[in-house]
Amino acid sequence: MTATALDRIPALVAGLRYSQSRGITRPESWRREQLTRLRGLLRDRGADFEAALREDLGKSGTEAQLTEIGFLVSEIDHSLANLASWMRPRRVRVPLAVQPASARIVPEPLGVVLVIAPWNYPLMLALSPVIGALAAGNAVVIKPSELAPATSALIARLVPDVLDRRAVAVVEGGVLETTALLAERFDHIFYTGNARVGRIVARAAAEHLTPVTLELGGKSPVYIDGTVPLHLAAQRIAWGKFMNAGQTCVAPDYVLGRPEILRELAPLLAEAVHDLYGSAPAQNPDYGRIVNAAQFDRLVGYLADGEIAFGGEHDAEQRFIAPTLLAKVDRGAPVMRDEIFGPILPLVEVSGLDDALAFVGGREKPLAAYVFSGNPTVRRRWEQETSSGGLGFDAPALHLVVPDLPFGGVGESGMGAYHGERSFRAFSHEKAVLAKPLTPDTLASTIMPPFTARKDALVRRWLGKLRERSV
Ligand code: NAD
Repeated sequence: MTATALDRIPALVAGLRYSQSRGITRPESWRREQLTRLRGLLRDRGADFEAALREDLGKSGTEAQLTEIGFLVSEIDHSLANLASWMRPRRVRVPLAVQPASARIVPEPLGVVLVIAPWNYPLMLALSPVIGALAAGNAVVIKPSELAPATSALIARLVPDVLDRRAVAVVEGGVLETTALLAERFDHIFYTGNARVGRIVARAAAEHLTPVTLELGGKSPVYIDGTVPLHLAAQRIAWGKFMNAGQTCVAPDYVLGRPEILRELAPLLAEAVHDLYGSAPAQNPDYGRIVNAAQFDRLVGYLADGEIAFGGEHDAEQRFIAPTLLAKVDRGAPVMRDEIFGPILPLVEVSGLDDALAFVGGREKPLAAYVFSGNPTVRRRWEQETSSGGLGFDAPALHLVVPDLPFGGVGESGMGAYHGERSFRAFSHEKAVLAKPLTPDTLASTIMPPFTARKDALVRRWLGKLRERSV
């Protein structure tokens, strides 16, 4: 990775703004061409992207295809298939008092947008917002994560070769470069990462009154009761948790259940991990690595916070931490304070549903919550009595693959959402357009002064009707 020179940043952003303001990004044909070229790049250079992801995170090729490259290709296909209808102005009804008139919502590009990406899905999270930004007709600066340097370098090398350089730029670097970018004026900032930096981004954006989307994280709980086949639940929990070595924003963070359920679940989770990664995950190419030494040390520190039911092996040189189950974790333990973001799964005992709901309700709103229960009342209560970015019944992480579901957090897990049409809307301004013919003149004779007795009666009758309609 080669950091972009700081003194180049203002001119680079100004160049994009100039192109965008001249309208080159507006035509549907330009948007389609960019999306098609990006899809071509992902397909043609898939092997290079896989190699970079392996280098940064020890990611297997299949997982890279599933969760990063393939995900992006599907997102582009979906955008191309729907772009024309998303771009079309939508007519809306006009109230009687304003008629005759026509009213439409016209989506227009916001302008120049900044996408700041994290390291855990360093390709997918850098480019997925870009798909929405380009579909909506914006110019974009992409800032990949410096903590996934191989992927960052590859994005910086390949993307400008295929996309229109007048409207798309990649800035590489870390805090200094991002800080320099944040000093510039953008029309939207799309940030994915932790809440501490989310606050820095929101503060910088406030200076320019720039709207932000903040895709953050949090401790996503799993609740499980005895009404589901526990071995099947264990398989899905283990898959969602240990994918990408636990470094997934929507990964189950911890499991809540009654003591007897958790006792039964623990060996089933061990079996599930064995089915997924064999008896030696350290040798298994399907199992990932921790991104860097600082994260490794933080995670190893958590191993003392409970009884290790299985796993616990780790190797600093390889940045390897085995899939680990921590039983009998105290609610106040350090591992229960911050998002774990690694392959350590605490089991936390609760006395039942009310206790679990109160526990989750007393904490910051997570990015996701998962409920394994066949009891409709339990499901309904989670849906109605808790708040989280998303909610999965019997399946972690899958809600984010459905393009028509908004993906985003709430409260401490973020603001705004994207994917599918919502990505297009996130990067568009919905302009209200009203056209009222000058003749017949229905305004001067009804709602404009001078207010004659006739107009007064008319207005009162009209407001009365409105009131009647609202009861
Ligand atoms: P990170 O350290 O790569 O940081 C993200 C970006 O912020 C990087 O591009 C980095 O350069 C920039 N940055 C870091 N410090 C900065 C500073 N002081 N000023 C300006 N910019 C700065 O990634 P991370 O934050 O460690 O990512 C992990 C977090 O992201 C977790 O909390 C995870 O849950 C969350 N996450 C959320 C989603 C989602 O879609 N909601 C997806 C992935 C990760």
